[in-house]
Amino acid sequence: MELAKKFSVQKPSGMIRVFQAIEKMQGVLNLSIGEPDFATEPDIVDEAAKFAKEGFTHYPPLQGFLEVREAACAYWERHHGFKADPDEVYISVGGLHIPWLAFGALLNPGDEVMLIEPYFTPYEAQIRGTGGVPVAIKTREENNFAPTIDELRAAWTPKTRGIILNYPDNPSGRVASLKQLEEIAKFVEEKNMFVLSDEIYESMIFKGEHVCFANIPGMKERTLLASGVSKSHCMTGWRIGYVFAPKNVINTMCVLSSHQTYGVNTLSQKAAAYAMNTQDEKVKARAKIFGERMKAVEARLNSMKGVKCHPAEGAFYLFPDISGTGLTSEEFTWQLLNDAKVAVVPGNAFGQSGEGYIRIACTLSMEDLMKSMDKMENFCKKF
Ligand code: PMP
Repeated sequence: MELAKKFSVQKPSGMIRVFQAIEKMQGVLNLSIGEPDFATEPDIVDEAAKFAKEGFTHYPPLQGFLEVREAACAYWERHHGFKADPDEVYISVGGLHIPWLAFGALLNPGDEVMLIEPYFTPYEAQIRGTGGVPVAIKTREENNFAPTIDELRAAWTPKTRGIILNYPDNPSGRVASLKQLEEIAKFVEEKNMFVLSDEIYESMIFKGEHVCFANIPGMKERTLLASGVSKSHCMTGWRIGYVFAPKNVINTMCVLSSHQTYGVNTLSQKAAAYAMNTQDEKVKARAKIFGERMKAVEARLNSMKGVKCHPAEGAFYLFPDISGTGLTSEEFTWQLLNDAKVAVVPGNAFGQSGEGYIRIACTLSMEDLMKSMDKMENFCKKF
């Protein structure tokens, strides 16, 4: 069947190509997937089952059940001192659906959105898919992969409407400092921009405290704070995300979603409300495990020839510089996969600033992580 012309140039991303290759291979140690290896806690599963048996099998309210929106508000107030009204929350189909609805609500054709490299790959297609133009901002490791104000100024045009922030960051695992975020806030205010702050990794922080961007004075009214239970509560398959935003934006997102998904799975919402209200200790305990894994893997990486790795700051990703091997990100990734059966993601899959790096997700057991490090160490010896 003939596809739309816009798809004739679409190629799978560097990440998807790795995923597709692994499917055909046996015995791969997979460090490429950004998903917690822990299953959802059984009491959360029981909660969904209980509601299913009670007959909660109907369409949900478009904006999400009030109790889920209340649970999201309570979670953010408890953990980050961020205050919002349940009216300012929309429950989404995973965190991934938020930018579609947000950009659908905010962008006029040709509006530009700043995208900080290295970036979570789907953002680019989401900006384009809603009529916007992504403007990639190059960053450097020395600056924690956060943009300087001069870099933002150089990229700004009268068409710039917004910027995406994602700290803790996927793929770099970096956290921007409060000072860096305050400078960005000043710039955003000066240029009258909106901010989509994707803070889905807020619970996994290993350097200082998480800075909630919307808590910076003057930012709540221009920020869409996106998050979800996929990472914090190991609920990727339940597909629940949420966003805090000004009421007029939430209302328009509801209208848009009424034409797309008509709300979000009823039982998943019930499970997410329960999860956000009852699992703080478990969330903390898992973050500790991720932190220990990241520390151990970082130490191993830094002892390898040609590899340099910055200490873990947040999320469950390490983003080591492999340029000392003389290979590009793609060469390193594919040779490592074929020779050692260890899967990582090439850094250039996240924009040009990721060239020379690879992304490692510490989402395997410590034992398997150490096995994969043995193999990688052996692989690096030849360079
Ligand atoms: N934002 C970032 C930065 C992510 O890494 C991910 C998942 N990999 C998401 C959003 C989407 O998460 P979800 O599974 O809830 O759609």
